[in-house]
Amino acid sequence: MGDLRDEKKFVINFSAGPAKLPEAVLRQAQKEMLDYQDTGVSVMEMSHRSADFSKILNTTEQNLRELLDVPDNYKVMFLQGGGTGQFSAVPLNLMKLKPGHTADYLVTGTWSAKAANEAKKYGTVNMVLPATKKYTSIPDASTWNLNPEASYVYYCANETVHGVEFKDIPETNGVPLVCDMSSNILTRPVDVSKFGVIFAGAQKNIGCAGVTVVIVRDDLIGQAMDVCPSVFDYKVQSSNNSLYNTPPTYSVYIMGLVFNWIKSQGGVASMDHNSQVKSSTIYNVVEESDGFYCCPLDPKCRSRTNLPFRIGSIEGNDSLEKKFLEEATKAGYLQLKGHRSVGGIRVSLYNAVSVEEAHLLAGFMRNFIADNRHLLDTPAQ
Ligand SMILES: *Cc1c(COP(=O)(O)O)cnc(C)c1O
Repeated sequence: MGDLRDEKKFVINFSAGPAKLPEAVLRQAQKEMLDYQDTGVSVMEMSHRSADFSKILNTTEQNLRELLDVPDNYKVMFLQGGGTGQFSAVPLNLMKLKPGHTADYLVTGTWSAKAANEAKKYGTVNMVLPATKKYTSIPDASTWNLNPEASYVYYCANETVHGVEFKDIPETNGVPLVCDMSSNILTRPVDVSKFGVIFAGAQKNIGCAGVTVVIVRDDLIGQAMDVCPSVFDYKVQSSNNSLYNTPPTYSVYIMGLVFNWIKSQGGVASMDHNSQVKSSTIYNVVEESDGFYCCPLDPKCRSRTNLPFRIGSIEGNDSLEKKFLEEATKAGYLQLKGHRSVGGIRVSLYNAVSVEEAHLLAGFMRNFIADNRHLLDTPAQ
């Protein structure tokens, strides 16, 4: 069962982002494309201040609040600029919270490294973890260099490129915690009350590109730097219900359809369960491959949504990885190439990828071992 699109050729999309959307969502969008619920117009053609769009916006916010159990003292905004926009918006809004204008950054991969670099434009950035280029583990919390005077502590819950995922929420002893959840939001329950700010670009787990969810605790709003652009100012945007300027209306609509779909599937608890099953299905093939597949990551922080691995050794075997990707693509398993900075293979298992689809890929991976193990034993040319 599930989501195999029978009218076209067999494919399963394992893209890291923009990523697969549930088929039911695309079908509903298709059905409503020209005429949204008897309005005679497409959502794309509606005023963002119309009653019809207001309803879409408010329902989408309500559903997100319900799915994530967002407390009443948090504002929810739907903004443009992507996750990368928030790399600037976060320091622009929060750096001045304390007089030192410093912020703590936990850098565990490409995305948090980019965020830290951006923040340096607006204040002093304190690196909580020792510098590394490997990004395969999270140093033990007892070794962290946290500054009690920091305006905020920043981390990325799931590093999409390197596959490092936090299993626990960092303890900051009262300093507001900011989290980039772009690639694992709504894949597991989170206690929102532990956070100052949560943000996520939609195009990985919850929609299409163009909209970024930003959830901010009330007391952190209203202290933006003077240079903060109005479109990024949490006070301006939250007091205008994300309508200070035109929001990405169609992307909000698609995200709303995804939230409905998640609810229909049993909510975050069921996404969490599926995520657990899908990721262990793939990691088990790696673990049981007797060194054919190698995952460089510390098992304690292996991502459930982005699973990087190599073939042959941690350094990878170029010709076998190329063969794997060619045969996978031919068989319909799409977008499995690792990020260009890491190489190898990366399997992205966001909410729209079904358990059945993960099982099919696991089968392909097992068959690939059987057909190619002998090639590993021959010395490299
Ligand atoms: C994709 C991604 C981003 C960047 O998102 P954009 O919308 O391209 O700016 C930031 N953080 C994480 C964790 C991501 O996966």
